[in-house]
Amino acid sequence: MAIESFNPYTGKVLKRFTAFSWAKTERILAQAAQAAGTWRTTTFAHRAECMRRAATLLRERQNELARLMALEMGKPITDGRAEAQKCALTCDYYAEHAEAFLADEVIESEAQRSFIAYQPLGVVLAVMPWNFPFWQVVRFIAPALMAGNVGLLKHASNVPQCALALEKIFHDAGFPPTTFRALLIGSDLVEKLIEDDRVQAVTLTGSELAGSKVAATAGANIKKTVLELGGSDPFIILADADLELAAKTAAQARMINSGQSCIAAKRFIVEKPVVKEFITQLRAHLQAMRTGDPLDEATQFGPLARPDLADELAQQVNDSVAAGAKVELAGGQDKPGSALFRPMIISKVKPNQRAYHEELFGPVAIVLEAKDADDAVRLANDSRFGLGGSVWTRDVKRGEDLARRVESGAVFVNSMVKSSPEMPFGGVKKSGYGRELSHLGIREFVNQKTIWIG
Ligand code: NDP
Repeated sequence: MAIESFNPYTGKVLKRFTAFSWAKTERILAQAAQAAGTWRTTTFAHRAECMRRAATLLRERQNELARLMALEMGKPITDGRAEAQKCALTCDYYAEHAEAFLADEVIESEAQRSFIAYQPLGVVLAVMPWNFPFWQVVRFIAPALMAGNVGLLKHASNVPQCALALEKIFHDAGFPPTTFRALLIGSDLVEKLIEDDRVQAVTLTGSELAGSKVAATAGANIKKTVLELGGSDPFIILADADLELAAKTAAQARMINSGQSCIAAKRFIVEKPVVKEFITQLRAHLQAMRTGDPLDEATQFGPLARPDLADELAQQVNDSVAAGAKVELAGGQDKPGSALFRPMIISKVKPNQRAYHEELFGPVAIVLEAKDADDAVRLANDSRFGLGGSVWTRDVKRGEDLARRVESGAVFVNSMVKSSPEMPFGGVKKSGYGRELSHLGIREFVNQKTIWIG
């Protein structure tokens, strides 16, 4: 794929970039490997000082960053500002807590003294997607740098300006430039990078296909990976739920980032007595949402990030409807080749349809009718994915019981799924493995070393 900024709202190419050659990439890798040797010897206090400055710069530059996101991938400007602020919060969080998370952990044993020491691995490669072009990267790089690792970023080819803006923030914050570099490369150089002995580990957020390719190469080279892949999160609504609140939240949860979020609610599993009313309310909320130019302050959802993503989503919906799904809200793609896609609701989605099994990465809500709570859990778990899930009931105890039975990395009761710095984030099944954020995230790319004093 060409490395270029393409405005999905106007359909215009804004800027083209020449991809780095392997020779240039290799030079940067050599510098990163050298930096890893010194960065690991710095104090937590020094790293935290730089990280706090990065947080300040993220806040100061939020308008500029939000504008870049609007232009490169169509994110509404108000959402872009919120993303920059969340990145800042996460930098502050790891500046504050990294030292405690990685402190020696004493273990009682036969030794005089024994403990676990958490030590950096070295160069970590991050392959990242376009949907949250700052957040996805920050939730990797903030803990990585605080742990004493250095990072190389291969960002999605449609957000090069976001990649460069983030690199600049960390450099301006005082991190040595060689500790975090954005590589403007296509995915064709990723395999070669992973095979190189100077890369110690890889993290990828993106599609199942890209994840499996990267993990296969890493596996062949005995390297640790963290994979954060797709999701088709269930949003279970029992008959005793606060239906008004559930329907309002359902619309928000489906429309996060114009529907392009791995943890967006995608399958609304509703107990039979309330399914009709739920569809009526969800339809009203979705119809009330404003679309328009992502640079306009009033816009609530923008175009999809690339026209080909809208083409693919339209195809998934059309195939499902041809196989029996019922359209409850007719929106969809403006015309083939356009990135504009209006919210849709489809029901009567059955296992013979693509919408039942595949992730719909855009504003299409699937409604599935459940006979009872057990049936709702069965439907929720009848998925290849297991990232997040949400359960709605006035009986909180029952909600908690159901939460334990849903096969996913997170379940929220009477709330939509969201990520926050202090809670672990990641999936099971085909949604990936490993965790980001929290104390678990920072321990993914460290050597958990046993030290035994006899
Ligand atoms: P991809 O998974 O293709 O892209 C994500 C990142 O992986 C990009 O940096 C991409 O680079 C890179 N990549 C792609 N293929 C390879 C490969 N073979 N080896 C190494 N790196 C690779 O996502 P798409 O943009 O194509 O989106 C397709 C679907 O993926 C979406 O519809 C959605 O289902 C899912 N997705 C999930 C996300 C999540 O948050 N979990 C985020 C984005 C997408 P390049 O851009 O150069 O191709």
